[in-house]
Amino acid sequence: MRLENKVAIITGAGSGIGRETALLFAREGAKVVVADISEKNGRDVVEEIKRSGGEGFFIRVDVSSREQSKQMAKDTLERYGRIDVMIFNAGIVQDSLLIKMTEEQWDKVIDINLKGAFNCSQAVLDAMISQGSGVILNASSIVGLYGNVGQVNYAASKSGLIGMTKTLAKELGRKGIRVNAVAPGFIATPMTAGVPEKILEMMREKTPLRRLGEPSDIAYAYLYLASDEARFVNGAVLSVDGGLVI
Ligand code: NAP
Repeated sequence: MRLENKVAIITGAGSGIGRETALLFAREGAKVVVADISEKNGRDVVEEIKRSGGEGFFIRVDVSSREQSKQMAKDTLERYGRIDVMIFNAGIVQDSLLIKMTEEQWDKVIDINLKGAFNCSQAVLDAMISQGSGVILNASSIVGLYGNVGQVNYAASKSGLIGMTKTLAKELGRKGIRVNAVAPGFIATPMTAGVPEKILEMMREKTPLRRLGEPSDIAYAYLYLASDEARFVNGAVLSVDGGLVI
C-alpha cells in the first residue's frame, strides 16, 4: 500500500474528485479525514470507507472560516496524532461575465477557493513543521493556467493557488514539507453536471485522448504526489487534462 498509516485531510471530500480521492487513499492504507461543508455527503463517504475496511472520520468544515479550519487540524491531531497530507480540494464556481459579476460572486469564490487554502495550509503547518515532514496539495485548474470566459473569479482563485503553491514550496521545502498543485481539465463531477451536451462534445473533440476526465484520473495524480514516490517533486503544477491544452 502506497500510503500506509499516513494521515490525510481531504477538503471537499464529500463529492466528485475529493470523494474519489478519499476512497482511493483509504484503499492505499491512509487514515482519511473527510472534511466537507456537506455533512450528509461527508458521512456517506466515511461509511463507504469503513465498509471497505478502511479508516477515516468526518469533520464538518467551511474552509473559508479560519476558526473552522483550525478546528479541523486540531480534531485530526486529537484523533490520529499527526497530519501527513492536506489536500485543499474544496472549491466552488459562481460564473458570470465580468460585466455582470456581483461583488458577492467574486468574494464567495475567492473566500472559499483561495482564502480557504491559506486557512487550511496555515492550520496544518505547526504539526507538519514539528514532524519535519508533510505534503500540501492544492486543486488548481487549467482555467487557472489559461483563463476561461465567464470565470474571472474562479480563474483568479485557481491562478492564485498556483502562486501560493510555488511560494509555499520555496518557504517550506527546508522544513521537509512539499507543496504541489494539480490542474485538472474537464472532469465529470457534480460541479460540471449542468454543462450542456453540446459543450461536452466540443471538449471531447478538443481533447487528444477523446474523452472527458473522471474523478479517478485526478485521484491517482494526488496519490502519486502524496506518496513518497514523489519525494523530490516540489512546487510543481501537474496538468491532468488528457492533453486538452498543450
Ligand atoms: P464538487 O463535486 O462540487 O465537490 C466539491 C466539494 O467541496 C463539495 O462536496 C462541496 O460541498 C465542497 N465545498 C464547497 N464549499 C465548501 C466549503 N466552503 N468548505 C468545505 N467544503 C466545501 O467539485 P469537483 O468537481 O469534485 O471539484 C473539486 C476541486 O477540483 C474544486 O476545487 C474544483 O475547482 C477543482 N476542479 C474541478 C474540475 C472539474 O472539471 N470538475 C476541473 C478543474 C478543477 P457542496 O456540494 O455542499 O457544495
